[in-house]
Amino acid sequence: MNNNDVSIIGAGLIGSLLGIFLQKRGLSVSVYEKRPDLRLPEYAPEGRSINMALSDRGWKAIDELGLRSLVEPYAIPMYGRRIHDEHGDTTFLPYGKENQAIYSISRGKFNHMLVDEAEKNGVQMKFDHHCKEINITDTSIVVQNPDGSTEKNTPGVIIGADGAYSSLRDAMQHQTRLNYTQEYISHGYKELSIPPTKEGEYAMDPNALHIWPRGMFMLIALPNPDKSFTCTLFLPFEGAKVCFAKINDRKDLDTVFKTYFDDAYALMPDLAQQYFDNPTSSLINVECYPWLANKSMLIGDACHAMVPFFGQGMNCGFEDCYILDGLLEKYGATSWELVFEKFQKIRKKDTDAISKMARDNFTEMRDSVANPKFLVRKKIEAKLHELYPNEWIPLYTMVTFSDMKYADAYAQGKLQDEIMDRVMDDPTILQNYQQLNYEEIIRQVDTARMV
Ligand SMILES: Cc1cc2nc3c(=O)[nH]c(=O)nc-3n(C[C@H](O)[C@H](O)[C@H](O)COP(=O)(O)OP(=O)(O)OC[C@H]3O[C@@H](n4cnc5c(N)ncnc54)[C@H](O)[C@@H]3O)c2cc1C
Repeated sequence: MNNNDVSIIGAGLIGSLLGIFLQKRGLSVSVYEKRPDLRLPEYAPEGRSINMALSDRGWKAIDELGLRSLVEPYAIPMYGRRIHDEHGDTTFLPYGKENQAIYSISRGKFNHMLVDEAEKNGVQMKFDHHCKEINITDTSIVVQNPDGSTEKNTPGVIIGADGAYSSLRDAMQHQTRLNYTQEYISHGYKELSIPPTKEGEYAMDPNALHIWPRGMFMLIALPNPDKSFTCTLFLPFEGAKVCFAKINDRKDLDTVFKTYFDDAYALMPDLAQQYFDNPTSSLINVECYPWLANKSMLIGDACHAMVPFFGQGMNCGFEDCYILDGLLEKYGATSWELVFEKFQKIRKKDTDAISKMARDNFTEMRDSVANPKFLVRKKIEAKLHELYPNEWIPLYTMVTFSDMKYADAYAQGKLQDEIMDRVMDDPTILQNYQQLNYEEIIRQVDTARMV
């Protein structure tokens, strides 16, 4: 057992990125991944890869590793939400100030790049290696090799970047006093896509995240470099007027799409085939604590899988990686127990906060954005931010365009919400939304802040 010898379980986005950070610190890193190498041509998930919205926290990790120029060509800026109503009319709602954007990037392509980069830096990437058993007490793992044989390894530390259904977390639950909660939400999702036009162009504005908010359900679309869009349909599994359980044939599907997503429907010639071929997946929230036991620790979705409605799961996992790396810098690259302990203490309240915000944001995306009152509220908040850039920062900006601690963003957001609730109680606001009286609004904000 050598303290320099690190075994990471899982070569997803977080395991691959963490491998690069740790190898650059002079540690000897092996990453065990149960799936085949995602770079093999037969593995390419043909246009069905989820798209990630990459934002400032994610970019910060990429910048620390000097990888921006590698990632940028595959990342398409989205400057705001384009909201589609049921009649096909659209409204653009900027995410932040001019030039502030989140970036659409294919998860498969991104993972591919990070695995390549990890290997270039000397990380041992072991695909088709399924970690079958983990012993927390003696820090050992039993791995099944591609030929079916098994081997036992005793690294210096084990880091579980093995996702929402983590094997390391499972082992901790059975072998230590780890507390754990999981919750499946009532909605699931299905990937669909909008191809380029006959002329080979984007069928819609490529620099926006498109949303069709319909109250209890929604469709979203993110652009790809090949001029297609990857769409995600979020519906309740069952029990609602529109739900996955009630779409059983082409007629049901056409009715739902023609009624609620008519403009998107017109752009999806092979909708039925995609819909019935692609799986319906569930959405889970996972919380647990502690994240460490002896010389093993969890990171990324393994300890804080969240619903995707703030577009922060990966960004938060990337932030985990650079915070862990910063602690290794501060306390020494092999002071594992101390570093792990500090890491979980620093991170837990922040990851709890972003998990909560992700759940709250679901209502905003599928419902509130279609409400004129909400749009006026956002307009006022943007103006307040313009006038008082340091005193009033919209929650979305704090989460997405800064690296402010998630817990602080959450607390400040709640205070601002209370103030805005009071401001929006004024019935004249909506009547005068074209020409808002900001002097009066600021007076109301000041009064509300004093209450
Ligand atoms: C629909 C959807 C949209 C999303 N959109 C966004 C977004 O816009 N922005 C954003 O920031 N985040 C987004 N996310 C969240 C993001 O996808 C996750 O947070 C991120 O992928 C987590 O990465 P991970 O490496 O921790 O886990 P995973 O990606 O799950 O990787 C874990 C890896 O571990 C491997 N593994 C598991 N068990 C073992 C074992 N026993 N042995 C060996 N290998 C094992 C698995 O095969 C897998 O490859 C979205 C998620 C969903 C579902």
